[in-house]
Amino acid sequence: MAVYTIHFAKVGEFGLDQAGIESELQDWFGEVIRLYRPRGVYNSVAFSWHTGEAEIVVPDREIIVYMMNSRRRSLWRRFGLESTPPEDGAGITMVNNGLSCCEVYCGCRSSRFISETVFHEVLHNKTGWEDSRLHRRGGVASEDSTSITGAEVAVGQEDYYNSNYGTTRPTGATFRRLLCRGVLTETVGSSILTRRNYRDMALHLTDRRPQWGRGLIPSPTISLDSVDPLEGL
Ligand SMILES: [Zn+2]
Repeated sequence: MAVYTIHFAKVGEFGLDQAGIESELQDWFGEVIRLYRPRGVYNSVAFSWHTGEAEIVVPDREIIVYMMNSRRRSLWRRFGLESTPPEDGAGITMVNNGLSCCEVYCGCRSSRFISETVFHEVLHNKTGWEDSRLHRRGGVASEDSTSITGAEVAVGQEDYYNSNYGTTRPTGATFRRLLCRGVLTETVGSSILTRRNYRDMALHLTDRRPQWGRGLIPSPTISLDSVDPLEGL
């Protein structure tokens, strides 16, 4: 029996509750494996953290998730995409030249919320499903995660919030957009992972999806920030 490894690559220096994230994901991916035994091969999940490596090479069945402080660090352009990146979202999954790349914007979010976003982006990555297909699957696969229902404005940021949104709490995409800017933190309610989420993950977790492993290489001529497509966000 084998261990399925999820690889995290930290882009830039920032504080991150790695243990908290691993704890959440250990439960969820552990459940995926316990319930469905992907390919009859894997019997446990492990995590590996990467920083500053020239190239991360993983088996085609495993996955890399780039973790960064904010969308300003997005690898969108460096990954080779010319189009305009989306303006919101807590993470994104990109595909180019047969390679897949997940990134998650961690900011001031809770480890629970970050973990949900990781699970969501891994679903995109491994199923190959775009938003219109995946988001219909409900639970943590949906665009507007129910985890935001317990949202609270972070202490000290009420003024920003009130001047932009009045007294109505933002919902859905609006709230996620705010989170992307690190403006709000959130509290999280009960689990929203559904059996369908676990099953979708299990059916595709071991699909061959070659991962782009060169996201930690700084540009040789210009700094990471100056190639940032979202500069000034
Ligand atoms: Zn999505």
